[in-house]
Amino acid sequence: MSTHTRIKKEDQVKVVAGKEKGKTGRVLRVIAKKNSLLVEKVNLVKRHTRPSSQHRQGGIIEKESPIHISNVMVICTKCNTAVKMGSKTLEDGVKVRCCKKCGEVIDL
Ligand SMILES: [Zn+2]
Repeated sequence: MSTHTRIKKEDQVKVVAGKEKGKTGRVLRVIAKKNSLLVEKVNLVKRHTRPSSQHRQGGIIEKESPIHISNVMVICTKCNTAVKMGSKTLEDGVKVRCCKKCGEVIDL
C-alpha cells in the first residue's frame, strides 16, 4: 500500500468488516505501527475512571479503541459511499489521493 492511498487523520471512513461493520466516523488517530486507527464513536470500550476534578464521582466512560486499517474504507463525499482510494498527480506535480470510482480528490 503506497503512502498516497493511506487513510489519514480527519478522513471520514466506513467500517466494512468486523463487529463494527456499517458504522461511520472521523479518523481521530492513525497508529501506523499497528496498522490501526481510532475512529470517532467506533469500537467503543468502557473504561473505569478514577475520581478527578472533571469527573468527581469517577465511573465508567466510553472510549474508542483501535480497529484494523483493513476493516475500514474512506468515504467519498461525491459518491456518498465507502470507496477504494487511488492516487493521481495534479498539474502542478503534487500527488493526491482520489476516489477510484469517480476520481474526486480526497486530500484537501
Ligand atoms: Zn467518488
